[in-house]
Amino acid sequence: MTKNVLVVTEIRDGKLRKVSLEVLSAAKRMADGGKVTAIIIDNNNQELFSLLAHYGADQIFAVSSNQQDNNPTELCCDALATISSRVNPDAILLGHTSIGKDAAPLFAAHIGTALISDCIDIEVNGDSVVCTSPIYSGKAFHKARIKEGIIMATIRPNNIRIEEPDTSRTAEIINYAIEHRNVRTELKSVIRKASDSIDLSEAKIIVSGGRGVKSADGFKPLYELAEVVGGAVGASRAACDAGYCDYSLQIGQTGKVVTPDLYLACGISGAIQHIAGMSNSKAIVAINTDPEAPIFKVADYGIVGDLSQVIPILREKLRKL
Ligand code: FAD
Repeated sequence: MTKNVLVVTEIRDGKLRKVSLEVLSAAKRMADGGKVTAIIIDNNNQELFSLLAHYGADQIFAVSSNQQDNNPTELCCDALATISSRVNPDAILLGHTSIGKDAAPLFAAHIGTALISDCIDIEVNGDSVVCTSPIYSGKAFHKARIKEGIIMATIRPNNIRIEEPDTSRTAEIINYAIEHRNVRTELKSVIRKASDSIDLSEAKIIVSGGRGVKSADGFKPLYELAEVVGGAVGASRAACDAGYCDYSLQIGQTGKVVTPDLYLACGISGAIQHIAGMSNSKAIVAINTDPEAPIFKVADYGIVGDLSQVIPILREKLRKL
């Protein structure tokens, strides 16, 4: 049924985003021997094209635009509009990233199809495709069974298994120039935060701090620990509200939703709005002075103690590994 899958891939700091590999892998499994077409915007790096081919792309549209560096959502929608009318896909997949979250609903409305947003699993089941996405802040799962029409979905980072790369694979490269005529917004500037070095939504390990960290200086040991384990730093809303760190680090219902392999909650009580953003982490470790803190109900491992003492010990032990 879904023999022809179109995916949008994304570049960050010159590298292919991990979620793009996850999207490609999902597309390859869906197509099951059919055709996977990848869109890559304003990038002409042959190594990246090879990477896309190794991970499942059969055809790559290397889109160049007259609006390079402008609003990526509009550019992505324009690219999807012209390329999908050329390749007639059965399914269109994007990462559940800021671009995917913006562009996918716009394009789904444009072609009059439903969008299954924030999928953590996609499986082909006979003549239908089943997309699973968390609902009610991760407390339940919604399974959408689609039998006809174009399937359109965004995929939550860190959930879909990445296929082993096949380095013998090659793809047909189609250079595709698009003239964007009706761009209604203009990107003035991008302000990068220091925290942007590892994307929170794709991080395998997150060291997260709450009000218990007590100050902006208190976050320094968390950054040091994150560096030792190759992770990213996150925060509760209370820590952001108190000015200890930037709002771009906020995890939870009104912040980012993350699914790392390891989530280390330091001085975070475990309010339901925070849990909503991290409860699907594969392993949760909580450090809290209060043994009754609700975070221990969702934690796999709990340390009852003062984080100012526990974190330096952890950091030194882990540094030696
Ligand atoms: P607290 O609840 O104050 O907990 C601090 C913890 O630190 C306590 O458990 C304490 O025992 C522990 N502690 C103190 N000192 C130490 C120490 N030295 N060592 C170890 N532990 C220590 N919150 C979010 O996080 N994300 C959201 O997206 C979000 N969205 C919200 C949306 C709405 C509509 C509302 C109403 C609230 C939202 N909140 C959100 C806020 C949420 O309800 C909580 O207020 C917030 O998560 C509490 O943050 P906290 O756990 O850091 O602080």
